[in-house]
Amino acid sequence: MSSTMAEHQAAYNSRIEELRSKEFPMIQGDVYLDHAGTTLYPKSLMDCFVADMTTNLYGNPHSASISSQRSTTRIDDIRLAALRFFSADPADFDLVFVANATAGIKLVADAFRAAPEGFHFLYHQASHTSVVGVREEAKTSRCLSNHEATTWVSGTSSQNEAGQGVPTLFAYPAQSNMDGQKFPLDWSTKARQVGREAGGQVFTLLDAAALVATSPLDLANVDAAPDFLVLSFNKVFGFPNLGALIIRRQAYPCFQHRKYFGGGTVDMVLSIGEQWHSVKSTRPHEALEDGTLPLHNILALGHAVRLHRELFGPMQEVAAHTMFLRQHLSSRLCALHHTGSGLPVCTMYSGEDPGDGTYHGPTLAFNIRDATGAWVSTAEFEKLAVLKHFHIRTGGLCNPGGIAAALQLQPWELKQNFSEGFRCDNGNDIMKGKPTGVIRVSLGAMSTISDVDRFADFVEEFYATSSDTITPGLSAATPKLSGLYVDHLVVYPIKSCGGFRVSAETTWEVRREGLAWDREWCLVHLGTGQALSQKRYPRMALIKPSLDLVQGKLNITYVCPKSPNDVRVLSVPLSTDATAFKTITPGCAASSRVCGENVLARIYAADEINDFFSGILETPCALARFPAGGAGQSMRHAKAHLQKHQRSTAPKAASQAGVDTPPDSDNEVDKPKILLSNESPILAISLKSLDALNSEIVRSGRGSPVSAEVFRANVVIGHSSSDKTSFLPAYDEDHWSTIAIGSHRFRMMGSCRRCHMVCINQSTAEKTDEPFITLTKTRKFDGKVFFGTHMCWTPRRMDDPLPARIQVGEAVIVDP
Ligand SMILES: *Cc1c(COP(=O)(O)O)cnc(C)c1O
Repeated sequence: MSSTMAEHQAAYNSRIEELRSKEFPMIQGDVYLDHAGTTLYPKSLMDCFVADMTTNLYGNPHSASISSQRSTTRIDDIRLAALRFFSADPADFDLVFVANATAGIKLVADAFRAAPEGFHFLYHQASHTSVVGVREEAKTSRCLSNHEATTWVSGTSSQNEAGQGVPTLFAYPAQSNMDGQKFPLDWSTKARQVGREAGGQVFTLLDAAALVATSPLDLANVDAAPDFLVLSFNKVFGFPNLGALIIRRQAYPCFQHRKYFGGGTVDMVLSIGEQWHSVKSTRPHEALEDGTLPLHNILALGHAVRLHRELFGPMQEVAAHTMFLRQHLSSRLCALHHTGSGLPVCTMYSGEDPGDGTYHGPTLAFNIRDATGAWVSTAEFEKLAVLKHFHIRTGGLCNPGGIAAALQLQPWELKQNFSEGFRCDNGNDIMKGKPTGVIRVSLGAMSTISDVDRFADFVEEFYATSSDTITPGLSAATPKLSGLYVDHLVVYPIKSCGGFRVSAETTWEVRREGLAWDREWCLVHLGTGQALSQKRYPRMALIKPSLDLVQGKLNITYVCPKSPNDVRVLSVPLSTDATAFKTITPGCAASSRVCGENVLARIYAADEINDFFSGILETPCALARFPAGGAGQSMRHAKAHLQKHQRSTAPKAASQAGVDTPPDSDNEVDKPKILLSNESPILAISLKSLDALNSEIVRSGRGSPVSAEVFRANVVIGHSSSDKTSFLPAYDEDHWSTIAIGSHRFRMMGSCRRCHMVCINQSTAEKTDEPFITLTKTRKFDGKVFFGTHMCWTPRRMDDPLPARIQVGEAVIVDP
């Protein structure tokens, strides 16, 4: 880059920095890097829109009233402004307002499907899912690699659908939404030429949704233009949610066969006696915009087009700025190498660009490998990114062909992954050692150098280190020292709400499925049936249940953090009296979802109960009960198993389970039952490990010590300060295979994987980024973060009728 260009970019960047605080207050300290999803809207756009809406009365168009006429005039003006944004002459093009790019694609598919002989459909492999779906309407369809597409449009392909008497629709993205690759705009002219030479007709559908967000698109040359072009304005301006289908008028006859008509698109309809109608024919959009137009969105678009230019200058400036940032980020990420092994940290899927945006837009797709070369889970990466206030997208990105090509996933592998439980965005992202998705960073007009630097610093800090920090534990051969005891016991009657500390005087019942009354209740969203969690509703931590076994009551207290005098209480009987619950209508069982599994929980009928929780959480929800000892389908099984970092140093446990198979992995019968807990019957943590973690948090200056509560354990194990136990290292629990508490035995089921829910302060419901960040630095194995251990009670005999009882203060003996 020449020095004058660099100066120009630096000056533009400073201008954007200034704009940021005034126009984008919603970002605050966050780094928004998901502009390909939806970009951000400036504050003055909202101000102009509100001022317009509150000053002028806009009626439904198509009537003679002043308010209606005002709307009609504004819509005409804005339609023209939107065409001009792409230098499109209204004599050559018409613009149809649609809900989004997808709706524009569907409208084109609607027209072609109605063609008398159907149509051939060709689509580029980098196409968005919304384009791929068109193939289901076609007579024949083919997915073309980039090479095949290039050959096809040059007329040298051995396979040419164009001359076979039916129209061909050729679809491709102007820019891939996955990795930012751009495709030639002259393919439209070439494709039409291929059609003419073969004596047939070829039409082109250009998906410009990703391109136009940050690049100019010029339709001044009508002969070179695509026949159909789709986009979503929210990707360009952030607001409003609105799309467009731009039709080259010469291609308009394609719509003559479209069958459906709706209000607004017909001049006359006969229904009684005879079925006849006449479609509006003066201007294409009149025949294609079914129903009431999204008037308010269109009005907002008018302001958006004008303001975008005022704030950012012409699109050429936006393109240059975002490409400058992309180059900077790309070179920083490519420069990262692991200190020990020298391996690169990032595997880039987005190619090189000369820097002027000829071949790529400002989107980067990549994955990360650790120092050993193993892939980092994109879901884990995202967890940490969220905590550090980065907004990025990970996963398959609605681009099936692009992802399969980048990750070299064959159809059989994808199908195998699917049958093994992989679904779009379910967190199952490394399968058989290969990633199934990518990390995508996409930049927008309001991105700055400091955004991309912060992101590169983040990747460097957390991923460009030497290998996973393995905390050495004692080998299994070392005799275990004791001096451990139960420091306290906590029951969480309502999943994700506060804990109830068992008093030191009481012995507490332990069942196969966990501590008595633990996670027997949950709150479910009334709309989705989904069990609510602190991750989304941190305030749940402040809902404090307590168990009164004498009165037979579950008492719940909530103190509003903002006004401590606002104390709310509720009491729910512990009995499972059927009349307390909503009756279940056969065939529409009230199944709820807990951690992605369907469970049959029974919902309380009393408004008083459900209003109590809905009021606190400000979301419509209900209390549900999952009967203890639940039977049949509603029962769930523990998912915890030994982790790799444990297996290598726990030969005893590994040999019991057979080489390489995690214990419990195959045998349903051997998996203990659980109620609503996430993974296992009982979760234990050790205060020795917590001390180690807290010293590290303090030593590194990252924050202040966290309390044991954030880990939401049932059994908190303390250590007496006798000389002997001081030898016991922190995290020794990773390597235990059984423990005894009093006279009862518990089998260890593997380390507990952690997410950023451990960052919610359980007394204030506030979120910080500790202890997750320090855990990531010190307790990451195989790309996942662990703290604490799952376990279950193992009765001495399977038919042992007495439940176990344990108590605070009892000794804990390791591997007795
Ligand atoms: C976002 C996007 C779409 C889909 O846009 P919608 O607004 O969701 O309809 C299609 N294609 C590309 C290239 C995109 O980036």
